[in-house]
This record gives sequence, structure tokens and C-alpha cells, in this order.
Amino acid sequence: MPSMPFSIFTTEQRANWLIEINPQFFSPLTPLLIPSFSFVSLCSFMGRALLANTAVFLIVLVGSPIPFSIISSKRSLLWGRQLLKKGLVWKIGAGINVPLSTPNWIPSIHSPTLLHPIDQSQAFVSFFINQDSTWNVPKLKHFFPSYQVESILQTPLDPTLSDSLIWGFHPSGIITVKSAYHLASSLASTDVPSSSSPNPFQHWWKKLWSLSVPPKIKHFTWKAFHHILPCALNLFLKRILPHPNCSICGNNTESVTHALIGCPRAKTIWKYSRFKQFYIDYHRNDIKEFFLQALHNIPKQDFPIFIAFVWHIWNTRNSIIFNKSGIPNNVEEFVINYLQEYIAAQRNYQGDQLDSEAATISRNTQQQHPTTLHPDTPSLYVDAALDHKNGLTGTGFIFKLGYQTVLASHCRPLPGAVSPIFAEGQALLQSLLWCLDSQLSPKFVFSDCLNLVSKVNSAWQDNSALSSLVSQIRLLFSNFPDASLHFLPRQLNMDAHGLTKEAPRPREDS
Ligand SMILES: [Zn+2]
Repeated sequence: MPSMPFSIFTTEQRANWLIEINPQFFSPLTPLLIPSFSFVSLCSFMGRALLANTAVFLIVLVGSPIPFSIISSKRSLLWGRQLLKKGLVWKIGAGINVPLSTPNWIPSIHSPTLLHPIDQSQAFVSFFINQDSTWNVPKLKHFFPSYQVESILQTPLDPTLSDSLIWGFHPSGIITVKSAYHLASSLASTDVPSSSSPNPFQHWWKKLWSLSVPPKIKHFTWKAFHHILPCALNLFLKRILPHPNCSICGNNTESVTHALIGCPRAKTIWKYSRFKQFYIDYHRNDIKEFFLQALHNIPKQDFPIFIAFVWHIWNTRNSIIFNKSGIPNNVEEFVINYLQEYIAAQRNYQGDQLDSEAATISRNTQQQHPTTLHPDTPSLYVDAALDHKNGLTGTGFIFKLGYQTVLASHCRPLPGAVSPIFAEGQALLQSLLWCLDSQLSPKFVFSDCLNLVSKVNSAWQDNSALSSLVSQIRLLFSNFPDASLHFLPRQLNMDAHGLTKEAPRPREDS
């Protein structure tokens, strides 16, 4: 069979085709043996290249077409090159090697808009980075539109100062076949711009995140949009299920699109809803296009109901498959009631929040501390809080004897608001620097981020900026040979947590 460019298939056709060609195509051992299957070969190769840190290979591949016997045709190589170009992003360290005009250094923004001219010799990302490896917010605000500043402030800075190209579609920065596959799927639908909007995706996401629907529904939508819900096809590809068939209608492959749009069960639900006409017009589309079109074609007031409706189709599908009872007959009514309850609960929550925080604290004072600590043991408590609105990370740390006696405390706001774990890492790094400066020697260091604690305490490593941050933290720990890092649940770390809220308002040591 001749190798064919990927984009001529719809996602569903492609998935079926892949399975027909080779049911085991995701095996790490076999893909290179299938000469006509250039996509997996290429991904596997790229994956191995990145895993082995052979960045040179990638640059050669991106920079110039080379004949490669494993990849069967020049056409598929070109396609793979295109995929790589889309998938590689800059991990920014010092920024001296990254020209401002280069694509892929700001998440989700292809090329930045400069509001004022910058001298060519200074037109590098480094122009916007402070000496202490943080973003220079006043400069950013002067030169970029505010929505781009927002995105830039969510970009982590690698504290080892090295600029490098990494795979942007996996948090590890390492290419995986799965992430390349999903990128390929999304490219197939972005290649066909759907509306007058020049950047339909950006508008779509903005709209979604601003909707008054529960976060779990937003996350569901995000997963559906990226074709990563655990439908039969995806479970089959992960070798969890023996076949990719839909358990409800039987014969069709159950892709995400099938489960939510194509399956006869879904079809019946759609046809008896207020979205009937929209369904008739767009049910032949991939789920991604279906969502995009909904934003333009569904009345504004019905859009949250539409989003919750899709989510509910998935939920009822699960209830049927896992034999759960209590499936509501009227999906539309259920969804509307659910959203109304959510909005009412949100309103009450604002009022109740203070009470419940007080309750949590009093409950927790009765809890046992997880690590036995002598009342004289010097210990450091660290926490971080993200302030997305102001693009800041608040960090707070307290040095105590045992759990009770406070000796010193400090808080510091840092420009940028990346992710919770990165923020906790930054706080830990800052707290250790502060201890060094203040000649404090903790024996126990506590963070309430379990994921960070286990990363620092293990040999974990990948291509991400977080990994560099973790290496720096390990290095700093070598200044405190007696110190060890432990996890402390948030409710027992309330003093440090309180300080992080102070941090956005600059304050001196207390
Ligand atoms: Zn079905």
C-alpha cells in the first residue's frame, strides 16, 4: 500500500485505517518494521531522538530534508517535518538564543505582536528577562498586548538558563507517539479553517473557560476536544481493551466522535433536544469541528447547556456501560437543572467560604502531624499560591523550631504564574536561598505539594523547565547536608499558606 499524506483522512477514517493496517501499531518494537507506515515510524524515531537527547537530529530534520531509508517517501518526511515544526516549542532559559520573531515561544500564540519597535540587536526574548530569572513585567506590558503578556507570564523560565527546543505537546517535553498522534489529529482539523475568525481555537477556549459551568465539565470538554476520553478506541490503542468497538451499538469503532455524535444512542438524544437542527447540520463533523461550529451557531444563552449536554451524553454512556442505575430520561431537563443548581451553589459558596475555612482549620488542629518532630528541631515550611489575575506567584516560608515556635518568616511575590507545581517549586527554591542568606539551617523542610516532594526526592528527570527547577532545588539542598524534604498536608501548613496570600503585596520580614 502506498504511503499517503495523513491529512486526507478524517480522524475516524484514519483511526480505522491504522487499525486495519496493523492492529499492534502502537507497539514500541514493531513500528520501524512497517515500511509503509511512516507516521508511527517517524514518531518513534522522533521519540527515540528526543529521549536520547539528540537534539541535533531534530534540527537536521527540521532544517533540511534528508533521504532517510526508514521513512518511505519524501512526502511523508515532509509531513513529519511539518508536524515537528508545530510540535516543538522553545523552553526559555536566559532567552539569548530566542529571537522575538521566532514562532512557538509563547504558549498558544504563533507570532507575538510588538507594539513598539525594538532595536534588532535587542530583539531577543532575553530583553524581557530579569537577572533573577523572572519575567520583566513592566517591559512586557510596554511592548506586548495584554492578552499576550498573560500568556508569556504562564511560560516557565528554566533556572539553568539554557534555551532549547522541546516537544510542546507533553508536559515532559519528550515526544510520545500518543501526543504526536493527537497533534496530528488536531492539525488535520485546523488545516480546514472553519469560520471567518482568524484564530478560532483561541476564541473558543476563551469562551469555554469563561462559561458558568462546573470545572469538571470544562475539563471533560477539553479532553473530548483533544480526542483523549477513554472511549473504546483509545482504550484499545492503550491495549486495555481487546477491540475498539462501541459497546452500545456494536459494530462501529467507538472514537470520541462516535461516542458523542455518531452512535445511534447519542443521535436519539440529540434529535429530541433543542439542538436538533444544529445536530442535523453538523453531525458529520469531527467532535472538534462540532464544538467550534457550536460556538458560532448555537444561541449564546444555550451554549453552556450545549457544553453540559455533550458531557451528559458521555456520562450516560458510562452509566449504561458500567450498568449504573438512575439514568435520567430527559437529558435536557437534567442538564438545565444541574447548571442552575451549580450557579446557585456558586453564589452561596462566596458567602460560606470564610466559615468553611475556619471550620477546616479547627478540625485540623485535632489531626496528628505526620512526622514526629522534636520541639527544638529547626524546620522550614514552604508554600506557594498562584495569582493568575495579576500574573504573580506568591511564595511564603516560615522557619520554626518544631511545629510551633516561629523564628522567622518571609514572603516574596514573583512575576509569572505558571502552574501549581512549578509555583511550589519556585517557592521551595526561594525558601532555600532565603535560608542560605539568613544563615538558617533547617533539618526538616515541608512542602504541601506531594508531587513536587516525590520528584525532588527521586531521580526524576525530563526535558521540562520543571525538571531544571527540581535539579536546582536538589543542588541547593546540598548546602544543608542534614536537611530532608517532606510532604505536609495543606491543612497543617496553614501559616506558610497564609503568607503566600500576603506575598502579592510586597512586605518585609515579619
Ligand atoms: Zn455506538
